[in-house]
Amino acid sequence: MTDCLFCKIISGQIPAVKVYEDDHVFAFLDIKPVNPGHTLVVPKKHFSDLLDADPDTLSKMIMAMQKMARAMVKALGLEAFNIGQNNGRIAGQLVDHLHFHLIPRAADDGLRHWPGKPYASDEEAETVAKKLRQHLNS
Ligand code: 5GP
Ligand code: ZN
Repeated sequence: MTDCLFCKIISGQIPAVKVYEDDHVFAFLDIKPVNPGHTLVVPKKHFSDLLDADPDTLSKMIMAMQKMARAMVKALGLEAFNIGQNNGRIAGQLVDHLHFHLIPRAADDGLRHWPGKPYASDEEAETVAKKLRQHLNS
């Protein structure tokens, strides 16, 4: 897509620090990393988000991420990392080209998990799970 920031990075129109590339996947350092080595993993083909992407691309992306995560653990001496994907504005998605964040973690690096809220009742949990199951094949 011509006006997409990440398409421009993939094509080299906008510079970025490349970490990995294959026929389907491109990965580069996030310009504002949570920790050094924070990498954005994107499909070369433009998809706006996870719902838009095809299964073949997604499988190529997860395989590439495992490869990069293994390298990251060794190269940076990590004990832990997070993989994240912000889908939609409310979830924090700022760039509308599907991307996963591969984030090296360190103790006391300031990144916090989201707060959890317990279900009000078992019935509430059953009701929401039932709705989810009903829509899996539609
Ligand atoms: P999102 O909020 O959409 O999940 O993540 C977008 C990410 O892209 C952010 O973490 C942000 O720092 C990164 N980013 C934004 N503009 C650029 C850029 O021009 N180059 C690079 N390398 N990363 C960028
Ligand atoms: Zn794009």
